[in-house]
Formats: sequence, C-alpha cells, structure tokens
Amino acid sequence: DTVIVLFNRDLRVADHPALAAACARARLVVPLFVLDPAVPAGRRAGFLSECLADLRGSLRARGGELFVRHGDTVHETMRLARESAAEAVFTSADVSALAQRRQRRLAAQPIEVRLFPGVTVIPPGELLPSGGGDHYRVFTPYWRAWSVAPRRDPERAPTRVEVPDGQPAGDIPDAPRWGALAGGETQGRARMRTWLRDHLAGYAEGRDDLAGDRTSKLSPYLRFGCVSPLELAGCGEEEFVRQLCWRDFHHQVTHAFPGIGRSDYRPHRGHWREDAYAASAWAEGMTGVPIVDAGMRQLLAEGWMHNRARLITASYLVKQLGVDWRTGARHFFELLLDGDVADNCGNWQWVAGTGNDTRRNRAFNPIRQAKRFDPDGEYVRRYVPELAGVPAPLVHEPWLSPRPVRGYPPRLDSPP
Ligand code: FAD
Repeated sequence: DTVIVLFNRDLRVADHPALAAACARARLVVPLFVLDPAVPAGRRAGFLSECLADLRGSLRARGGELFVRHGDTVHETMRLARESAAEAVFTSADVSALAQRRQRRLAAQPIEVRLFPGVTVIPPGELLPSGGGDHYRVFTPYWRAWSVAPRRDPERAPTRVEVPDGQPAGDIPDAPRWGALAGGETQGRARMRTWLRDHLAGYAEGRDDLAGDRTSKLSPYLRFGCVSPLELAGCGEEEFVRQLCWRDFHHQVTHAFPGIGRSDYRPHRGHWREDAYAASAWAEGMTGVPIVDAGMRQLLAEGWMHNRARLITASYLVKQLGVDWRTGARHFFELLLDGDVADNCGNWQWVAGTGNDTRRNRAFNPIRQAKRFDPDGEYVRRYVPELAGVPAPLVHEPWLSPRPVRGYPPRLDSPP
C-alpha cells in the first residue's frame, strides 16, 4: 500500500506526525510538495527553496525522495495519487482560510484524507474555554490552560522512507535568498540548538532590547516548520515558552475565525483614513520618526523585524497615521520571512484594537518606546545612516536638534 504525505508548512523529518504515521502504515510513501500559484512565496521564495532542498536531502538520505510539483495543490495531489496508486493522503492540519479551503477540497476527493498535528504545540480547537465558545478570545486564560494541557510525545524522524519507482522528482526552483537566514531543517535545528544552549537564559531580560537583538530569530523556521514547536516548547524557560503560546493562541483564533486576514475580529472602533502617501512613507522607512524608520528599514533589508519594532511601527501606522491595519499587514506579510496569516493578522488586529487585546485603546508613544528600548540609539543608527552622527537621546527626536539633519525627512505625523 502507498500513502502520500503532503508537505506544506511542516518542512522537516523530525517530529513530523503525518510522515511518521505514513511510514508506520504503508510500505511505500510519497512525500510531496506542491508549489501552488495560489500561495505565492514572494520574498520567502529563496528561503522556501532552501527548505525544500534540505528536506529532499534528508529524505534521500533515508532512501526516499521529495516529489515537487507545480500547480493546484489538490489537482496535483490527486494526479500523483492516481499515478502512484496511493490510497491515502496524510497532511498536517493548518488554519488559514486558504489552508482550510484546501483541506475541505481534499476531503471531498475519492481518497482517504487524514489530518495530523505538528504546526502548533497544542492543536487548534483542542483547548476550549470552560465558559463555552469554540476558541479562547483572551490570552491569559488560554496560557493557563495551555501550560498544563497534556502534550503528545515528539515523533522520531523515520530511519527509512521507501518511495515508488518511476516518478520524476521534479525541480525545486532557484530563487534568490532574502536576508541572512538560510532555510531548512538542518539550519533551523542548528540555530535552535545553539540558541537554547547559549542564549535562552538571557531571554527574559533581553528580549525587548532592540539593539542587542537577543531573540531567537527562529520565527522563519517555525513559519515553515523546519523546527518543531512542540520540541522547542520543551525547553522550560517560561518567558520564551509564553511566546510560543502566543503563536498557538493566534492559530486557534484563526482556526475558529479564518477571516482574520480580512475582517475585524471585533467590530472596529476607529475610522481609518485612506492615505497612500503616508502609507508609502511608512513602508519605505521615511516617516521622519527614527525608531519607526529603523524598524521599517530593517524589514526591507533583512525580511525580519524585532518584535518591539513591529509593535512600534504597527501602532504608529494605525494610531498616529490612522491608516487601516490591513494596509500594514499586507506590507508585513509580503516582506517578512516569517510572514504568516495567523501571527501577522492576529498581532496587527491586537495592535489596531480590533483583535484580542483586552485594553481597548492602547497606543504606543514611539518616542517614549524608543528611549526605553533603544536608550543609546544604536538600533536607530544601525538602520538609519542619515542619523549616524546624532547622539542619544537626540537621535530619537532629530527635530529638536539645533541644526537640521541633512537628508532625513521631517516628521510625518503632526510635527511639534
Ligand atoms: P522570539 O522572541 O525568539 O520568540 C520565539 C517564537 O515565539 C517566535 O519565533 C514566534 O514563533 C513566537 N512568537 C513570539 N512573539 C509572538 C507573538 N507576538 N505572536 C505570535 N507568535 C510569537 N510573528 C510571526 O511569526 N509571523 C508574523 O507574520 C508576525 N507578524 C507580526 C506582526 C506584528 C504587527 C507584530 C507586533 C508581531 C508579529 N509577529 C509575527 C510576532 C513576533 O514579532 C515575531 O514572532 C518575533 O519577532 C519573531 O522573532 P523571534 O523568532 O526572534 O522571536
């Protein structure tokens, strides 16, 4: 018998429940990834190609193969199922609207389809609030339930993967790398190991230090499933594990509310302005507010942005400039290597006040945030070379400088 393992955002062999189950059940396994034009990889294309090449290497080392196809995921899966006489498709359950639609379409095909966990620590929908409802709307009670919920044991990587003969492997496209992080399980695991060993201990006090850059940068690896969130959550450092719980939280919200990328989770309380000029100044890192511009330029240069800077830049767009969160979320999603519907839109809605924040009118004061989390101005100077010669604290408020700073724009929001 033959089982297709349809990979998606779970590009690893370690702790992969669908792959482990397929290897346990079937003599032949067909590991498949479909490059689907409905899911454009954008700036993530290079990272994705590296993930696929690494996965192919791991499967080949086990006697197997990664089959790569181009086209509609469901059509290509069914085509390969017919060609290889497979009787089942195993895949990791995912939550975005697109993923849920794809899962429903697959389930309607004349083949057995089984969904497996693996994308989050606790599967979305498994924890339900005692007061009723199909998901948790507030983080703290979720965190309490999540922390004590039983977990499955991580799966071992299979030692052998037998694939059918006669199928072409299919090409992995060449795509340029964006930023410094290289994709793949091998790279992800190496980063995870080093980070847990050398940096985890300083995480709680260092995570908001913009210039120190002391977070794990595992997000792109989690986004593509190169590392297992379940394994990572076993590290035992509460503040870090809490961030993984935030990730699960947004996934269980998206599972229940797949419209999260388009519609306000809570009917929104503000009025957004159309302001293409302000939105593009923001996107280009030319707002004249140094901490905002530093974050936006880090995103442009690296495909990644520090969490504190994401909060400040997002809040600036929606609260100071009054621009619709969807405009910002779209830009982030396009550029972030870790760009993911649940985490991106969950966080954007949280910042915009349309999401799961229990405080309704939170707004970050970018100048106060800058002075607190980048006290020496090092982060700003790193990404905004126009301000390289300006000392702190003036670097955060160049409009107070007795001499104008050449080449740096005036402040976009109500200048003092
Ligand atoms: P660490 O601090 O090392 O945290 C470890 C892991 O925990 C992260 O890799 C991530 O998977 C998870 N995590 C941490 N913070 C959050 C959070 N607030 N919400 C959900 N998961 C979290 N994260 C994404 O993965 N993809 C996105 O598209 C994304 N968009 C965001 C948009 C906005 C406006 C904001 C404010 C945050 C967004 N985040 C997103 C969350 C967070 O900023 C990143 O996960 C984090 O900066 C990644 O860096 P790290 O891996 O070094 O994080």
